[in-house]
Amino acid sequence: MDILLSNELSSLYENRVANLDKQQLMPEHIDAIIDDFASCDGVTKTIIGQSFCGLPISCLSLGDGPKKVLLWTQMHGDESTATAAVLDIIHLITAKLSTSLNANWHNLLTIHIIPMLNPDGASAGTRENAQGIDINRDALALQTPEGKALNAVVERIHPDFAFNLHDQKDYFRCGAHGKSSTLAFLAPAFDSQKTINHARRNAMALTALMQVNANALLPAGIARYDGEFSARSFGDQFTGRGISTILIESGHYPNDRYRQVARTMNVFVLLHALNMLCEESYWTTDEKLTELEIKYWQIPENKENKLCDLLIKDLGFAGNSYTTDIAMRKQSRFSSLTLVADIGDLHQQHGLNTVQGLGYTYDPGQSYLLNEELYLSNESYIELLKKGFSHFVGNINLIKNHSDYTIIENPKYWHDDKKMMKGVTPAGFLCKEGERKFAFVMGEILPL
Ligand SMILES: [Zn+2]
Repeated sequence: MDILLSNELSSLYENRVANLDKQQLMPEHIDAIIDDFASCDGVTKTIIGQSFCGLPISCLSLGDGPKKVLLWTQMHGDESTATAAVLDIIHLITAKLSTSLNANWHNLLTIHIIPMLNPDGASAGTRENAQGIDINRDALALQTPEGKALNAVVERIHPDFAFNLHDQKDYFRCGAHGKSSTLAFLAPAFDSQKTINHARRNAMALTALMQVNANALLPAGIARYDGEFSARSFGDQFTGRGISTILIESGHYPNDRYRQVARTMNVFVLLHALNMLCEESYWTTDEKLTELEIKYWQIPENKENKLCDLLIKDLGFAGNSYTTDIAMRKQSRFSSLTLVADIGDLHQQHGLNTVQGLGYTYDPGQSYLLNEELYLSNESYIELLKKGFSHFVGNINLIKNHSDYTIIENPKYWHDDKKMMKGVTPAGFLCKEGERKFAFVMGEILPL
């Protein structure tokens, strides 16, 4: 992976636990690692409950200090970036690799880590658990065994600080002009007036400390969520019970499909947070808390849907005098299905890939009807595009696609209109002076 990281990050990056850089972590990817850690000195494993399908939910505990810290990840089964990060942290600690963590941390903190709260959702690749319930909307009803298990741990250990670790979509931008939000923080409110109680004030202050440190390494990529109060969510409930809770969302970084940068940034900020909890006298004075609260509100806002996979700017349409911008997004993070997400004046959008369409006109191309076997190599596919075939229809089994490209087969919603419409599969050509110069296929743009 061609990612340039600062020295502070690259050593954390190099010391990641092996084989966890995957699209989706499942119980079988982490069970043996958890058992290895459980056999280390100073680590205790507890089974805190069973998932709806009967899978064990593990918690690893480290340290003997009076300050209690709880971290949980993968409450949403398809959000596993931070699962790898918390395992990295345990690895760094148990292997006694150098970290920024205070040398006396184990006398100051007790750290409880639930690396996969929703193993059924993780196995199935779903946000929800096997009952189809979003566990993070079950904090009041407590009808999921996973939500009950989390609640019981909190009742038992009474954490001072809690870290609720998630993944967000690729399309969040850090502030109005920033890059992708690779991390986003929230110190959730516990009432609709968004009152700042003692617990929330401390969470805001610690968040500000984490963000300032992280932002130095990844400028314009560390954001703050402006969350509404959500009575059904655990973070909001725990804050109301006096537990300083911090939500962290892992997000996109360029050319980093499995979010290894966000993973490493999680390790970095969480170690910094644990270290700050060892050195509380430094930042919990009234004066310092006031200063940090101001810093919290200064963190750039996490802006939803301000990014798209491909943005074509100012595209023209044959026979018409108007131009417009077109945004395309994947249906979900790992979906190959991309749809036209928005059309119009999208100057407030940024594309992860942006193409200037000014001077070009749109041509949807035509369907290639399959009636005999068709072998596609890179060359033969590009030849078909050059001839104006933008997609394939008919018996899809006849295609042997050996090219490196995504192809469009029997698009669910096709139009051969010369306009562009929201919700359709994006395919077609950018033409100049009657010649097809570029093809776009799903979210990819190919020069012809
Ligand atoms: Zn989530």
